[in-house]
Amino acid sequence: MAHSWLIHVAVALVVSGASTLAIAFGIEWWKTLLLGVVWFISIVMGIREFRKTKSRDRRELTTWLTVGGDLLLTANLTTKPQEIVSVGPGFERVLGWEESEMVGKPWMDFVHPDDLTSSVAKANSCNQERPVRQFVNRWRHKTDLSEGQPRWVWLEWNAVVDKGLDRVYAAARDMTSRFEREAQMATWSRITSDLMAVTDTAVPMNQRKFEWINEAWSRQLGWDTRELYDMRIADLLVAEETPSRQTSRQTCQSDSKGEAVMHCRVLCKPTKDQPTRHLFYEWTSLSLNGKLYVTGRDIGGERLHQEEMTKAIDDLEARNADLERFASVAAHQLRSPPRTIAGIAQALEEDYGGVLDKDAIQFLEDIRKDADQMAEIVEGLYRFSKVRTGDLVVQPVDLNELLQSVYEQRAKQTCMAHHDLVWDSLPVVLGDKILLKEVFLNLIDNGFKFNESNPKRVGITCRQLEGDRWQLIVEDNGIGIDPKYQPKLFTMFQRVHTGYAGTGVGLALVAAIINKLGGSISVQSELGRGTSFTFDLAAAWAS
Ligand code: ADP
Repeated sequence: MAHSWLIHVAVALVVSGASTLAIAFGIEWWKTLLLGVVWFISIVMGIREFRKTKSRDRRELTTWLTVGGDLLLTANLTTKPQEIVSVGPGFERVLGWEESEMVGKPWMDFVHPDDLTSSVAKANSCNQERPVRQFVNRWRHKTDLSEGQPRWVWLEWNAVVDKGLDRVYAAARDMTSRFEREAQMATWSRITSDLMAVTDTAVPMNQRKFEWINEAWSRQLGWDTRELYDMRIADLLVAEETPSRQTSRQTCQSDSKGEAVMHCRVLCKPTKDQPTRHLFYEWTSLSLNGKLYVTGRDIGGERLHQEEMTKAIDDLEARNADLERFASVAAHQLRSPPRTIAGIAQALEEDYGGVLDKDAIQFLEDIRKDADQMAEIVEGLYRFSKVRTGDLVVQPVDLNELLQSVYEQRAKQTCMAHHDLVWDSLPVVLGDKILLKEVFLNLIDNGFKFNESNPKRVGITCRQLEGDRWQLIVEDNGIGIDPKYQPKLFTMFQRVHTGYAGTGVGLALVAAIINKLGGSISVQSELGRGTSFTFDLAAAWAS
């Protein structure tokens, strides 16, 4: 019980009253003595209880001061400057100072010089009826920073003055980490080039104004911060023609957490030279607790670049298409003249060979050969342009059957006596049968043509790749290709070995076909060690 000592005192009083009465009525001496003993015991016990209660109150207070988060301080009003009378243990925990180092010293000694005037004014302005709530100042920590600079701790105070007791009672909370976090946020928002803003979602969009904006707004758009706070946001944002006004003002993509990304233009402050200038931003917003938090990144440069790129690509594609059309028409038109010339030269030689001298016959022979070569080049160009511009007839193609027909075709045309053409069990791929035949014919012909071995050998192997594709390898034991020529090997008219017949169109045609079928081709070779071409095709069926 908090005040049990009072009971003992009450008992003592009752006993002393009873003793007085007993003496007055002259009861036996031993009874009076008994009452005296009871009185004495009550007094002693009362004093003991009183002491116990007092010491428990003190202990309770000390315990609260220890566990409580606050820093408690009492200062003397009568001393000038006001000296500290007592401090709670919170001071040692937060500022490092022990009680003995603070008591008796003016509290102003611990306050940051810049905060002193306002703190003294605050402390003087309060009294018991008007306690001061929440003023903030910095107090010096006992330990300095590593560079010898004083370490300051932000404290938020509540204080009251009791003139009767001549004391100022004040309690503070350590606000350093919150203030530091706020200072960091403020620094980021000041130095960032992104626009940041907070608005109230309860206000309809056409009346909504900014609640907070960072400095980047006025830096980038030219408006004063005040002007921006006064403007309606709707007057600042400008709808995009595409996407629609709604898309530019509202959410384009949003997730379940209320985050959204949108694009829109923002009006810059009009100047004489540029009355209506806009900047283009990508906005990320988050709706939280009735507020909309927004950041905007200037993507005008990116957009311009993208637009320029798209335009350049469109231009290039248009020019390419023109060129391809031109090449296709030219190749088509030029196919027959060289053949006609070669035919006439041959006819002249056959019909008039008898009347012509040796030189004239040689001239006719040269004309025929060059015309044949020209016809072959034009034919190659024609086929190349057909591949580039024509449509594919994509179907499953059994490469074993295809290779068999290639072999039979070549066996009919040439003597394959010293030619060894072998192939593995090959897959069924997705492709254009005629074009794929063109690929194998070219690679196999080259493998035998640029080859001085005996027998000449061309082998075709395959390997399954990830993603339902097949790798095909056409390998020969021919003369090989110097690595320095390999990077340009697939460009038109690129010839490496001039001592052999050819036009330089074949590999360009092969690469165009493989690319058109969605694959790529590469060459691996060393001079004198044969050559292998590797390319990939789509499997006809998923594995
Ligand atoms: P062409 O065979 O008409 O000369 P291609 O475009 O088919 O033209 O080949 C280009 C050049 O690549 C050839 O001139 C030749 O020098 C080289 N080449 C192609 N295939 C091989 C091969 N299998 N071995 C060695 N060199 C080759």
